[in-house]
Amino acid sequence: HEWSAKKVRDTFLEYFNQKNGHTFVPSSSVVPLSDPTLLFTNAGMNQYKSIFLGTVDPASDFAQLKRASNSQKCIRAGGKHNDLDDVGKDSYHHTFFEMLGNWSFGDYFKKETIHFSWELLTKVYGIDPRRLYVTYFEGNDDLEPDLEAKELWKSIGVPEDHILPGDMKDNFWEMGDQGPCGPCSELHYDLREPENGVYRNAASLVNADDPEVIEIWNNVFMQYNREKDRSLRPLPNKHIDTGMGYERLVCVLQGKKSNYDTDVFTPLFKRIQEITGARDYRGKFGAEDPDGIDTAYRVVADHVRLLTFAIADGGVPNNAGRGYVVRRVLRRGARYARKYFEVEIGNFFSKIVPTLVEQMGEMFPEIRKKESDIKEILDEEEKSFAKSLDRGEAMFEKYAQKSKAKGSNDLPGDDVWRLYDTYGFPVDLTKIMAEERGLNINDKDVEDAQNKAREASKGEKKAGATLVKLDVHDLGALENMNDVPKTDDSAKY
Ligand code: ATP
Ligand code: MG
Ligand code: MG
Ligand code: MG
Repeated sequence: HEWSAKKVRDTFLEYFNQKNGHTFVPSSSVVPLSDPTLLFTNAGMNQYKSIFLGTVDPASDFAQLKRASNSQKCIRAGGKHNDLDDVGKDSYHHTFFEMLGNWSFGDYFKKETIHFSWELLTKVYGIDPRRLYVTYFEGNDDLEPDLEAKELWKSIGVPEDHILPGDMKDNFWEMGDQGPCGPCSELHYDLREPENGVYRNAASLVNADDPEVIEIWNNVFMQYNREKDRSLRPLPNKHIDTGMGYERLVCVLQGKKSNYDTDVFTPLFKRIQEITGARDYRGKFGAEDPDGIDTAYRVVADHVRLLTFAIADGGVPNNAGRGYVVRRVLRRGARYARKYFEVEIGNFFSKIVPTLVEQMGEMFPEIRKKESDIKEILDEEEKSFAKSLDRGEAMFEKYAQKSKAKGSNDLPGDDVWRLYDTYGFPVDLTKIMAEERGLNINDKDVEDAQNKAREASKGEKKAGATLVKLDVHDLGALENMNDVPKTDDSAKY
């Protein structure tokens, strides 16, 4: 490739750090131990939160920071930004990914960051501007439309039919239920080939969940903090926070249609094939992947990245909060591996880890340093699930047949709860299995079953324990409430 994955990252960092006066700040831990409002690091800006809020310790290095740039390890598998359910199914969302970013802390603002984005993409990376679309915040009852951003894109030469307004959901970025936020302006890329040399207009496909027109870069104009009471408080200064999906950029620059067709993922696929003897990866999705093998390749490769990086940063699998996300992802991945690759569960993931370490250990030495711990923890966790995986699958089969015999397409909440409670099947895993069998799971039913079980156990325990209402995805947290931070935000864990 002209643009190897490594060269793409190096070029980004060189552009900002060597050429435009930014300071390289290493990626922060993907497990944000010091921020209880956050499940995992979900964006490059997380580590700078105190700078945005104006609460940074004046003695720390961050207090002097004006411009920064790096590649941040991110996980989006729970909390406000949760892409777990897309993994396997689409070509551009991962649970673990790198976010390339540049920041200005009270230094440059909209004009400069728009210039940087445009120059880097079109001049340095050489992307054809006819494939690019940009967006700006259209405003709402309380907030002004961001016509300044719109004008700036125009003045840099973007044609008007490539500049699109967007709503709160797409063009107002928020870190979480609380935290720094602001209007944003994004760049989207049309992966489709021109017809007879002519590009079709892709405006209607931007932000439409179309895998051929994907968002690549977000420029956030940090101006507010979302307070606990949901109000917006202006920040003491205005800042720039940007995030570009590294795997998506690599996909674009390598002329592929899917992030999984790039050298970010192909070494992992090769390793999975060596271990399992599975057929080649063909890059097909949904109905075009009838045996589910391509989907399983994607799930396993995605999940081993999350597992490796989370564990390296201290996110060990357990029954609550962050640890339960890690456990859930491992169980989901293990079940895919067993069903589609027909491998024995117990030491599967650990065999892929060395390939990932070889690939990413230079940029992120922590995974090399912790390699043997990671493998050990994965094996232990896999082995403990292997025992209940068989029995749980058999039990699921019984429940599924019971539903079908009744002529019902629903899997009752009580059954879903029992699979969780007795066999450790995370609800999202049971949902995948139900989907494979054409069965639905009603979240409300599961919640009712959970409440029933909670009431039953309450009777047995001493009164006085405060129970937090949990998302159905997060039932595991009930088993060890002490591990859940005692803030209102624990509810979203
Ligand atoms: P999308 O709309 O595609 O879900 P987003 O708006 O949620 O993306 P941002 O929060 O704006 O994403 O994050 C900045 C950038 O990070 C995105 O422009 C995208 O390139 C990348 N990104 C976001 N989520 C993922 C993911 N799950 N996997 C890979 N890259 C991602
Ligand atoms: Mg998203
Ligand atoms: Mg988006
Ligand atoms: Mg975005």
